[in-house]
Amino acid sequence: MSDTPLGFDTLQIHAGSAPDPATGARQTPIYQSTAFAFRDADHAAKLFNLQEVGYIYSRLTNPTVAVLQERIATLEGGAGAVCCSSGHAAQIMALFPLMAPGRNVVASTRLYGGTLTQFSQTIKRFGWEAKFVDFDDTDAVAAAIDDDTRAVFCETIANPGGVVTDLDTISAVTKAAGVPLIVDNTTATPYLCRPFDHGASLVVHSTTKYLTGNGTVTGGCVVDSGTFDWSASDKFPSLSAPEPAYHGMKFHETFGALAFTFHGIAVGLRDLGMTMNPQAAHYTLMGIETLSLRMQRHVENAEEIANWLETDPRVESVGWAGLASSPYKDRVARICPKGAGALFTVALKGGYEACVKTVDGLKIFSHVANLGDARSLIIHPASTTHRQLTEDQQVAAGAAPNVVRLSIGIEDAADLIADLDQAMA
Ligand SMILES: *Cc1c(COP(=O)(O)O)cnc(C)c1O
Repeated sequence: MSDTPLGFDTLQIHAGSAPDPATGARQTPIYQSTAFAFRDADHAAKLFNLQEVGYIYSRLTNPTVAVLQERIATLEGGAGAVCCSSGHAAQIMALFPLMAPGRNVVASTRLYGGTLTQFSQTIKRFGWEAKFVDFDDTDAVAAAIDDDTRAVFCETIANPGGVVTDLDTISAVTKAAGVPLIVDNTTATPYLCRPFDHGASLVVHSTTKYLTGNGTVTGGCVVDSGTFDWSASDKFPSLSAPEPAYHGMKFHETFGALAFTFHGIAVGLRDLGMTMNPQAAHYTLMGIETLSLRMQRHVENAEEIANWLETDPRVESVGWAGLASSPYKDRVARICPKGAGALFTVALKGGYEACVKTVDGLKIFSHVANLGDARSLIIHPASTTHRQLTEDQQVAAGAAPNVVRLSIGIEDAADLIADLDQAMA
């Protein structure tokens, strides 16, 4: 092959995979095996010392999962990736090497509802704190970063509001502060946005959503850009200081750009055990093969439906960032020029009641707590995903009581419009 970099459509099918060396199987086999035989005692010792890369036990590494890791890392333009059991597991896996009791993460107020709960409640049990800030206010983000901040966290296209984060300005702030920027790229996917091109240090995914694309399996992934200097300060000892469980080895010194990835496997998966199983990796690999084709259709349909909704008298406002009327229009052109995704909110004039009636009246749209499926989905966040929040937090998160969230699928746009029209009536 020539040295010309391969295009996205080629990489989404080929990156990380090759015909199976043992059988010639052209599709990546599901290596449904817990353990892998060592060649001899010396091979085993080298694997356990991280002196050689290979397969030991599927809590740590598995050949099917490894293909998916390589594929996602390649599509994101990262140095390496670690897959895990869900998107929420990926968030803990991303924070774990960085945080310690007393440390904090500065996070956007506009996040997936479950992430707001994980950050505002559950991580407190580890002695970690989240400081929530409006990420449209760059100065507020800068001001929130203090000596104990170890990460800054946001979503590319924020769920549920359909808000695009200005990754360029946020990453300038995190660079100046010497802390990594973690971007949840679930709703954009690397087809619409590659956060590393905008200065992000780490990317997390819920592979449950668009990457798998058919609503079959949960999974997550942490991708490392390989560009953050973990040794520039003494803030990240898990990566820069000697690791007692590996005879005092320093991950950053030893593995360079792959330090975070190796730590994620050799410490994170080893000890937290949030492992992706090979069946899930298989389904997600199947999904990724058509990612670009699906995302194009998702965006086309979202555009048609958002434009139709915007002119409907029953609708108060439409939060799709790709609309000509959106305050985020210029940001879309810079951050995700191929489209503003297919996940957005609609505020109905009829308030809470109208939202609930619309959700119940739909026939093609499914009322589920999921997004990024080939099927169109709807949810009323205030009564479901965001019901743990106070009304103020709901409004700040873009999930006010009169708002429904649509995840536009890849069906015929005309059928989806007709379905919304009859349900709103
Ligand atoms: C779904 C989702 C998550 C959580 O992922 P799970 O796979 O459900 O654990 C995190 N972030 C975003 C943006 C999501 O859509």
